[in-house]
Amino acid sequence: MLFAAPRQLNHKTLQVAGLVPFSTVDYPGQLCAVLFAQGCPLRCRYCHNPHLLPRAAQAAQAWPDLKSWLSRRVGLLDAVVFSGGEPTAQAELPEALAETREMGFATGLHTSGVLPQRLERALPLLDWVGLDIKAPFTRYAAITASPGSGPRARRALEAVLASGISYELRTTVHPALLDAQDLLEIACTLENYGVRRWVLQKFRPLGCDDAPLVTAPSPPALEPLLPALRLRVPGITLR
Ligand code: SF4
Repeated sequence: MLFAAPRQLNHKTLQVAGLVPFSTVDYPGQLCAVLFAQGCPLRCRYCHNPHLLPRAAQAAQAWPDLKSWLSRRVGLLDAVVFSGGEPTAQAELPEALAETREMGFATGLHTSGVLPQRLERALPLLDWVGLDIKAPFTRYAAITASPGSGPRARRALEAVLASGISYELRTTVHPALLDAQDLLEIACTLENYGVRRWVLQKFRPLGCDDAPLVTAPSPPALEPLLPALRLRVPGITLR
């Protein structure tokens, strides 16, 4: 990820903490740049970008500079993904999405869905969404440390499904946070929504500052759980 020296902004603009200039894995099938928005209202224990969580008064990368940088990549990149942090926490996101599309890029979003009304406003400006499903909706606060986040995430899921745009649902699995019963409960919920594809991501210690999670014994393999989960959601990918 590239970072520049923090820069004081003299007008309200998207706060971007850094970028990956070229990625083949953050938007399925597309060559993309990834912008990391500063700030997130959640405090997931497994977060691997804890430095992005506070809403800073300074942005490492100013959006006007990033637009200029993107304009020189027209024809070289297919898409721009807004990641974080939580990009929808910034009211300036829709304007940035619209400007990105005007340059000819497809637009993607990585989101926890914790701000569903903001997400609903952004959806018409998006071509693809990667939405976290962090836990059974009744257990969300145990993962996010944010009371009420479960119902908000459920609303976000419903909005993404109703929008008809391309999406990916992903769940990060650490055995101290989610067990087999939790995964089965999530699978049942997704089945009830008609979801056919679901990505299970193994916890990655890189960047995580939660010592008990990082030093926990290696998690048991997820593969033995897959037959039962695939009875509910046929298209499960391990990542
Ligand atoms: S939603 Fe994402 S960025 Fe925010 S705390 Fe959770 S893992 Fe970190």
